[in-house]
Amino acid sequence: MGEVLAEEVKDDIKKFSSQEHIRMSTTLCIRCGKLRIVSKTWSEKVNGSLVTYTQTVCPDSECQSKVESELQKKIDKVRDIQKKSLERRKLIKRNRKSK
Ligand SMILES: [Zn+2]
Repeated sequence: MGEVLAEEVKDDIKKFSSQEHIRMSTTLCIRCGKLRIVSKTWSEKVNGSLVTYTQTVCPDSECQSKVESELQKKIDKVRDIQKKSLERRKLIKRNRKSK
């Protein structure tokens, strides 16, 4: 019986991943691998069509806060890189103009 259940879960995961790639990456906690729980869902109009967003959190609140701080660090890093590359591009433009 346990195997049958596992197959069903696998099918569910397959269904899930084919529907939404983004959601798939947030279904399991990246730190502990636990199944994440839905904390809130909301809908937004994007380009005229209604898109439903789902926010999931780790059932372990301590783990969730760690994941969030790690995510924030990553976001900060990406922003820093973007800022630097933007500055570099500006500098290149300026150098081109002066020539
Ligand atoms: Zn977790």
